[in-house]
Amino acid sequence: MEKDASEPDPSCQRNGVVAVLYGEFTDILNDRLRYSVSLTESALTIQQISSSPGRTKVVFNLTDCIGCRAYRGPDKADVGAYFTAYFYPFKRRWMSFGVARQRVEQCFRVALAQDPLANLQEAERWAHAIRDASVLQAPRRHGVLYKEVRRPCRVMVLVNPHSGRGQALQLFTGHVQGMLTEAAVPYTLVITEHQNHAREMVRKTDLSQWDALVIMSGDGLLFEVINGLMEREDWQEAIQIPLGILPGGSGNALAASVHHYSQSPPAWNEELLLSCGFMLCKGLVVSLDLVSIHLASQQRLFSFLSLAWGFVADVDIESEKYRHVGAIRFLMGTLVRLASLRVYQGRLAYLPVKEANLPASPPEHPSLCSSLPCQLIPNSSPNQNSRHNRSITNSNHNTITNSSHNTIASERPATQSDGKTRTLVDSLLPGLDQPVPESWTVVKEEDFVLVLAIYQSHLAEDLWTVPGAMADDGLIHLFYVTAGISRPALLRLFLAMEKGAHLACGCPYLVYKKVKALRLEPISPQGVITVDGEMVEYGPVQAQIHPGLARLICG
Ligand code: ADP
Ligand code: MG
Repeated sequence: MEKDASEPDPSCQRNGVVAVLYGEFTDILNDRLRYSVSLTESALTIQQISSSPGRTKVVFNLTDCIGCRAYRGPDKADVGAYFTAYFYPFKRRWMSFGVARQRVEQCFRVALAQDPLANLQEAERWAHAIRDASVLQAPRRHGVLYKEVRRPCRVMVLVNPHSGRGQALQLFTGHVQGMLTEAAVPYTLVITEHQNHAREMVRKTDLSQWDALVIMSGDGLLFEVINGLMEREDWQEAIQIPLGILPGGSGNALAASVHHYSQSPPAWNEELLLSCGFMLCKGLVVSLDLVSIHLASQQRLFSFLSLAWGFVADVDIESEKYRHVGAIRFLMGTLVRLASLRVYQGRLAYLPVKEANLPASPPEHPSLCSSLPCQLIPNSSPNQNSRHNRSITNSNHNTITNSSHNTIASERPATQSDGKTRTLVDSLLPGLDQPVPESWTVVKEEDFVLVLAIYQSHLAEDLWTVPGAMADDGLIHLFYVTAGISRPALLRLFLAMEKGAHLACGCPYLVYKKVKALRLEPISPQGVITVDGEMVEYGPVQAQIHPGLARLICG
C-alpha cells in the first residue's frame, strides 16, 4: 500500500482517540487498492479508500498483535518498502462453533518518495510504532497488575520428541516457530535425548544466557525443569526465570490452565498450542505457586500441578500405554479403571485455609489473595528422621482450630541466609514421623477411591477440576472421594468436570477443601502416587504450598 501522507492528521481524531500515526498506503498486490491506516495506542484501523460508498473498515486490537516488521521488496527496481503486522484475534471457527485465535497478517506498501531508503525508513517508523503500542498494552486483570511486562528475548525451547503422539517437534516447527519469528523472539531449540536430560541440563546451565525456559511437551518435562532449577545452589535466583509451556504432550494440564487463566474460550489441540504460542510471544509473566513434596525416603520434590493417589494416579500411569492417542488417553484410562474400581486404605490430614482470613474477593478471582505464608529460613529438612508409622494423629479430629499456621501473612516469601547456603524450609510440615499439629484436620474416613491435591485449574485439557484456581492463589485444592461411590456416580463426576460442574453434582462422597499443607499415609500395601503426572515412590507423603515461588508466562 502506497504512502501519501504520514503526518499525524487532526482529522483522524475520532471518538476522542488521537491517532499516533496516520497514513495512506496501497495494497501489496494491487496498486489501485488504497487504504487509510491509523494507529492509536490500542488499535490499528484500516479503511479502504474508494469512490463507492460503504467503505469497509477493519479494526485490529493491538492486544492481539505479536509483532510487525519492515522490509524492502524482492524486486531491486521497486522503490517501495513494506511493513507487515501479525495479529492473532479471536475469530469464528471454520465449520464449527465458537471462536479461537487465528492468524491474520496485514501488509502495506509504502511509496512516499522515489528514494527507497526514505520509504524503508517510513515503513520502519510504522513497524516500530505498532510493535511499541502492542507491547504497551499491559493487561490488568481483576485489578492485579502483571508482575512484569516485557518480551522474552532469548528463549530456550526444550522439546521432548517422544511426548504425546511423538509429534512435539513437528508441532513446534509447524505452529510456533513462525510466531516466534513474527514476534522477533530469538530462541534456541533443545531436543531432549532421554528422561532427566532437561533436569540435568537446567541444573548446570548458565542461566544468565536466557530470559525464559519454554517447555514444548506434556507436564512431565516441566516437572523435570522445575526440579532441576530447585536443585541448583542458586535456586532462589534460578527459579525466578520465567517458564513457558507449549502443549506437546498427552497430559497438557498446565497449558490448559494457562489458557483458561487468560479468560479465553476453551481450546484444544492446535488451537491450544496457538494460544500458548501467542502468550509466549506477548511475554507477560505472573507468579506461580509451587508445592514442596516430601517422600518417605527423605527426597523432596517440587510440584506445580498435582499430587494424586488412587483412581486419578492409577488412570494417569495406566493410560501411558495409550499415549499415541493423545489427550483422550485419560478418558480411555478412566473407563478401564472404572471397570475395576478399587478402594484404597490410608490416612489423610490437612491444614485448612481459614476462609475468614482470605481477602474479601469472590472465589472466581483468587489472584487477589496471592500471598499466603511461606518462610524461607535456614534450617534442615523437616523430614530428617523419617519413620512413618501412624503419624497422622492429633487431638482434634475433624475440627479446625486456631493456630499461627492458619494466619494468612501478607508478605512475599522471604529468605534468611545461614551463611553460604540458603535452604527453603517447609515451615508448616513436621517430620513425617511426627504427628500432625493440632491445627490440622484429620479425616475420619480411611477408605478412599481417590485423593487429589491440585494447584492449577485443569488436571488435563478437558478436565476443569478447580473452577476458581489461579496460578498464584496460594492454595492447594484438596479433593477426595470416599469409598461407597458407585461407578455411574464416579463417571458422572468426571464427565461433569469437563465443564467444571462436578462440585455442583451434590455427590456426598466428594469432598473439596482449600488447604496449605497435607499428609497422606497409604495403608494399602500397593498403589501408585503421582506428582505432576509422574510416578513417585509409594508411601507416606506430605506437602506444603510455597506461594509465588516460580514465574510463569501467562496471558
Ligand atoms: P506426556 O504428556 O506425553 O506424558 P511428558 O512431557 O509428560 O509428556 O513426558 C513424558 C515423560 O518423558 C516424562 O517422564 C519426561 O520426563 C520424559 N522424557 C523427557 N524427555 C524424554 C526423552 N527424550 N526420551 C524419553 N523420555 C523423555
Ligand atoms: Mg506426562
